[in-house]
Amino acid sequence: MSVLTFHIITIFPNYFDGPFSHGIISQAQKKKKVSIQIHDLRGFTQDRHKTVDDRPFGGGEGMILKPEPIFRAVESICDSRSGVQRNVILLSPQGRKLNQEVAFELSMHSQMMLICGRYEGVDERVREYLTDDEISIGDYVLSGGELAACVLIDSVTRLVPGVLNKDDSTLNESFVRRNLGSGSSQGYTILDYPQYTRPENFQGLKVPELLLSGDHQKIHLWRRKKALEKTLKNRPDLLQYSHISEADKRLLELKLEP
Ligand code: SAM
Repeated sequence: MSVLTFHIITIFPNYFDGPFSHGIISQAQKKKKVSIQIHDLRGFTQDRHKTVDDRPFGGGEGMILKPEPIFRAVESICDSRSGVQRNVILLSPQGRKLNQEVAFELSMHSQMMLICGRYEGVDERVREYLTDDEISIGDYVLSGGELAACVLIDSVTRLVPGVLNKDDSTLNESFVRRNLGSGSSQGYTILDYPQYTRPENFQGLKVPELLLSGDHQKIHLWRRKKALEKTLKNRPDLLQYSHISEADKRLLELKLEP
């Protein structure tokens, strides 16, 4: 049975005490689908003060994470697992952006090492000579890579086969390229459809009647219509109206509710 191992290299090992102890990530570790190993960067320093950072050459604000402890950390983790592909990932706002497709790609690996930057970032030689990939979780700057590592691990773990109870439950989520029928020949990336649960009537706010009808074909069409509408409204970058199939355009114009 294969286990996906995440190695996190960080100056704040205690940061991860909470995020991996709940829900799906916790269960995935118990089921031995994933393993999360935290490595304290200060453990790879060789001076009395356990120095991990220093001032930038050329001047400027803030501190930079030094290369030596990071190289030593990666080499030591690799040494103890010879033959395993390193797959070193630097978390950085300058990296390629994490999305569902990238998460799928990463879920195919058997291990990865995640380097969490801090302060003004990481010595450029780490990026240039040590890392295989550089990943950003979005176009904003966080104080450190730890939160980005949590996001990456969460999004990748739920895609590892056997982690969710039904493997196909990930196929109906937002951002998955899908062709849900209604005669359309092509699949496109759309957001998830709206979901409701009990009570049917909450303070006068009613669940759409069609969902209570038991007419599964109509429900299926309604869900696709709502997913298309939501994608066009909230994320037009994912789906241009001109790219939508004729069948889906007809569905968008169809009145399904009374
Ligand atoms: N000076 C850097 C810049 O402008 O690109 C930002 C450094 S940031 C304050 C410190 C660390 O947080 C980075 O080295 C990186 O590890 C992490 N980080 C910040 N934003 C991130 C993002 N959007 N995605 C992934 N990691 C991020």
